Amino acid sequence: MSKNIQAIRGMNDCLPAQTPVWQKVESVLRNVVSRYGYSEIRMPIVEMTELFKRSIGEVTDIVEKEMYTFEDRNGDSLTLRPEGTASCVRAGNEHGLLYNQIQRLWYMGPMFRHERPQKGRYRQFHQFGVETFGMQGPDIDAEVIAMTARFWQEFGIADKVKLELNSLGSNEERAEYRDALVNFLQKHESILDEDCKRRMVSNPLRVLDTKNADIQAVLKDAPSLSDYFGDESKAHFEGLCARLEALGIEYTINSRLVRGLDYYNHTVFEWVTDSLGAQGTVCAGGRYDGLVEQLGGKSTPAVGFAMGLERLVLLMETLGLDKDVRKAVDVFVVMLGEQAELKAPAVIEQLRDCLPDVRIQLNCGGGNFKKQFKKADKSGADIALVFGEQEIIESKVTIKPLRSNEEQSTIEQEQLVDYLNQAL
Ligand code: ATP
Ligand code: MG
Repeated sequence: MSKNIQAIRGMNDCLPAQTPVWQKVESVLRNVVSRYGYSEIRMPIVEMTELFKRSIGEVTDIVEKEMYTFEDRNGDSLTLRPEGTASCVRAGNEHGLLYNQIQRLWYMGPMFRHERPQKGRYRQFHQFGVETFGMQGPDIDAEVIAMTARFWQEFGIADKVKLELNSLGSNEERAEYRDALVNFLQKHESILDEDCKRRMVSNPLRVLDTKNADIQAVLKDAPSLSDYFGDESKAHFEGLCARLEALGIEYTINSRLVRGLDYYNHTVFEWVTDSLGAQGTVCAGGRYDGLVEQLGGKSTPAVGFAMGLERLVLLMETLGLDKDVRKAVDVFVVMLGEQAELKAPAVIEQLRDCLPDVRIQLNCGGGNFKKQFKKADKSGADIALVFGEQEIIESKVTIKPLRSNEEQSTIEQEQLVDYLNQAL
């Protein structure tokens, strides 16, 4: 016998038992963003490798070690997208959606990163993301954050996630700060790990992002970026904080929050939870005013975020919030005898015409009464409709409630629509 072929490590199937919670998450997200007037954009899953190198930055975890890059048959270097922002900006530039325009966009789909698979961290995962263009004030930063806060409300997890906020200032301010930081890091070089030593040279701010606790402890005394802010950066950040306060959205300022990608400036934020262990960031985003120009477009302010859907689903499962999602079947149809198997399906098609929201599943493959009722029970349906020989002759149907002690009854087939409208 040949060996079974298995899925690639870190790339998961989403099985029928889990799809209801995924569908619920996806529909809530779509609903919320549409209530804020956002439009969907869909981008390809594969892009030129150069796009991610140029946007995310050469000295980042993603570009250094996480990309699925391969050579196309014609020799181009292509990459499975590790995130959506770069593709969204590429598409916006390519189709003239960005310059001198206001855009509020969202996307949802799979992303690919070659990381070590563990709880909340996979090689194919799914993000829901929002990108806005053409607005440079803190008003839009506050809007996208308010929208994320509404997600948590709708999911019932608002008390499980906390907002962390920081500002990275302008590019010029960061350049000045960079020198001071390098100075500090050089004094503590002996405790830095290899990654941090390398970053100290190539991209020192990324040292602040280290997950190494010993280094984090030393960094407490590092110079603070906010000391280098000019009036504009201060005003932007204060404007955002004031708006969040007016909206009643609580936040903590975390001056170590720098985000793992190169393109951010001014506002950065993360929503984090204690309920998922090490992989606690559910949603992350910020402002990236320089990216559109960096990818060949005209200078355009932008702010957005991305959230990991696996982590969101995990959080909902951990909290037991996946239990009340809808099962797949409302009504199961039992058919006994040749005539019933022939004629009942046509009755059910008419029922589906009249009741588009009711999920009706037919028994297939025959079987006796007991066997069919076992399947009815397993389907999760609330009601079984029974078509036997007698019912077919008399144009009737027997109704058997499956989840209550109510007696079974026999009614005219014509009354079925009214009955189900009432019962479900
Ligand atoms: P982390 O610090 O957890 O590695 P990140 O900074 O790499 O996150 P982003 O690139 O900002 O993450 O992606 C936004 C969100 O996407 C994350 O907050 C997380 O919820 C989710 N995410 C990122 N990488 C993965 C992954 N490998 N598996 C599942 N979800 C992920
Ligand atoms: Mg990462």
